[in-house]
Amino acid sequence: MIEASCHCGAISFAVEIAPDQVNDCNCSICRRYGTLWAYYRPAEVRFAAENGPTDIYQWGDQTLEFHRCRICGCVTHWSAVNPARERMGINARLMAPQVLAAISVRHGDGASR
Ligand SMILES: [Zn+2]
Repeated sequence: MIEASCHCGAISFAVEIAPDQVNDCNCSICRRYGTLWAYYRPAEVRFAAENGPTDIYQWGDQTLEFHRCRICGCVTHWSAVNPARERMGINARLMAPQVLAAISVRHGDGASR
């Protein structure tokens, strides 16, 4: 079980299996957020029942929602607006440093897509 939470703890979630790889994407939003994305099916990510609401940012084609904690501002995850898209990204920066240290980082080229 891999747990992750924002700085203040208002938003936390867990996944059963650590990601094989995380994506350090250089697109216009990810490079500003400084996120490392781990990709899962939404059913694989368990959000804590006591989580508060998140703030959402959308841009471009509006197909994704980028969620951040309303209290501490940490970017927690993105989810697809279309639930048929069986993929979401969680910010692996919210995992414990020793967990993240064992995972390889891919430098994804989202900027030129
Ligand atoms: Zn927070």
